[in-house]
Amino acid sequence: MGGTVNNVYCVGRNYVLHAEELGNEVPAEPLIFLKPSHAAVALDKAVIELPKDAGMIHYEGELVLRIARDYVPGMTVDELVDVMALGLDFTLRDIQSDLKKKGLPWTPAKGFRNAAPLTPYIAFPEQEELEATDFTVRKNGVEVQRGNVQNMIFPLQKIIDFIASRYGLGKDDIIFTGTPAGVGPVVPGDSFELFWGDKLLGTCLIG
Ligand code: ZN
Repeated sequence: MGGTVNNVYCVGRNYVLHAEELGNEVPAEPLIFLKPSHAAVALDKAVIELPKDAGMIHYEGELVLRIARDYVPGMTVDELVDVMALGLDFTLRDIQSDLKKKGLPWTPAKGFRNAAPLTPYIAFPEQEELEATDFTVRKNGVEVQRGNVQNMIFPLQKIIDFIASRYGLGKDDIIFTGTPAGVGPVVPGDSFELFWGDKLLGTCLIG
């Protein structure tokens, strides 16, 4: 990561196959939730401590945008985003299922400390390179997730315009743009490697 993190916006259910794997409907408009900025932590050869005795924890690998300046209507993604990272949207899945059933907010399941690890930033690529490059998550050396912006339900411009108009978007806000299929459980001792194409952006070990 590096630099200040202000608001941490996250998009839920932005890939059809992931919505289906959790038995969720594909949303008609972006489903946005927030994590406290305190959830952000460096995913850079780090040991990351996650809650114990909180039921099943899932990893969700995601493309993360950093907003470089305050939004003005009409701005394009390229004008707003200077760098991006890959991140893991850690989720206490059992707790989230219980909160969903009760109609309660997701903060306990998504907002705990270290719930938003981020690799070091790389320059935000041109659209052509974005579409030509998959991001992948390897858990214990095995590929478990593969994503590409072309498979997003809501494209980056739509997400940015939606968040900005509803909630506001400014410098140092970051956006987790949703996870592709292949989410799964995390236990202490697991290692994660996050790749942009064949470039390794960050690794971590779960403590
Ligand atoms: Zn997510």
